[in-house]
Amino acid sequence: QLSGKTAIVTGSNSGIGLGVARSLAEAGADVVINSFTDNDEDHALADEIAKEFGVKVRYIQADMSKGDQCRALIEKAGACDILVNNAGIQHVAPIEEFPIEKWDAIIAINMSSAFHCTAAALPMMRKAGWGRVVNIASAHGLTASPYKSAYVTAKHGVVGMTKTVALETAKEHITVNAICPGYVKTPLVEAQIPDTAKKYDMSEEEVIEKVILDRQPSKEFATVEQIGGTAVFLCSDAAAQITGTTISVDGGWTAL
Ligand code: NAD
Repeated sequence: QLSGKTAIVTGSNSGIGLGVARSLAEAGADVVINSFTDNDEDHALADEIAKEFGVKVRYIQADMSKGDQCRALIEKAGACDILVNNAGIQHVAPIEEFPIEKWDAIIAINMSSAFHCTAAALPMMRKAGWGRVVNIASAHGLTASPYKSAYVTAKHGVVGMTKTVALETAKEHITVNAICPGYVKTPLVEAQIPDTAKKYDMSEEEVIEKVILDRQPSKEFATVEQIGGTAVFLCSDAAAQITGTTISVDGGWTAL
């Protein structure tokens, strides 16, 4: 389905990015995975995905908090038909106590990296006469929660950028959309469960239902495979007229 296409997924040696990279590889795309580290495991992960799905997979190190490295990632990849802007971090604190360096890092990694990568990738998509930009935003790109000022600001920014770039590319067979996941069980979220259980003196099941999935009416996590499947759909011909919009994968969160 996507054979002959090259997909770049930022922040993809773990969690949702890895899930999306695997789904795109399964659909036949050659994939570039990325993070800021440059470990043997990162390159081994690329080889593993390549072997499993019979496509070309490369790991390219680049720090998504730095604009020049974002642009260098796209240049080093040499081709980009599908760009998935996924890299992201979180920090939780009241705004008057929010560390400035955390604010700057979240704005840079969660929002500005999508600007730099998209700007670098569009000329390649235009040359090919086809392209897909999939931004991994969040339910927090459409709604807010207290103490997440930087994250909510960045994710709303990504949704705004999605609409703008969609208008700039509307006549060029390039679509630009955002996926807005609710809670997805990634290593990041899983790691919080035992600590939160201790803090509230609850069982891990209670923490999942009453604390983590409080806002998610389905009371189930979305999976990285479901986010990957949504990304593959957005890359399909069926989605060719879907552009400048958001798809929520949030178990009903934003319907509340
Ligand atoms: P994760 O921590 O498992 O993955 C984050 C990825 O980004 C990792 O591969 C990490 O190495 C990479 N990364 C972090 N800083 C980087 C940097 N400076 N340069 C390059 N790569 C960097 O988290 P996740 O839950 O998979 O999150 C992925 C994306 O999905 C984020 O944008 C996040 O905001 C979004 N999201 C997650 C959830 C959720 O519930 N897990 C919900 C909504 C949106």
